[in-house]
Amino acid sequence: MSTRGQAQPSYPRTRQPEALTRGSCRSHPYPLWTSDGQAQREAARRICARCPVQPACLTYSLTLPATDSAIWAGLDARERAALRRSRRTRQAGSPT
Ligand code: SF4
Repeated sequence: MSTRGQAQPSYPRTRQPEALTRGSCRSHPYPLWTSDGQAQREAARRICARCPVQPACLTYSLTLPATDSAIWAGLDARERAALRRSRRTRQAGSPT
């Protein structure tokens, strides 16, 4: 990631897709995505909703550990877990 981590260069996002270097979050305060505050998280979600690389970010976010509590692509950890479950269920039910 690198740039989402610009405000905090030690943020361990070293294997992010190149597309995320164009993420809207790069020009906003990084803690919006990691804060526990409702207002900050909602602000992050609004920015994600307009982000040009949101689809790539969503794909990447689903590879992150379930313990990652940040907002990614507008979703929090619980929402990502639900999406993973939903996709697994859909795949299990689809004919092969
Ligand atoms: S969707 Fe959100 S978290 Fe992902 S790159 Fe864009 S602004 Fe950043």
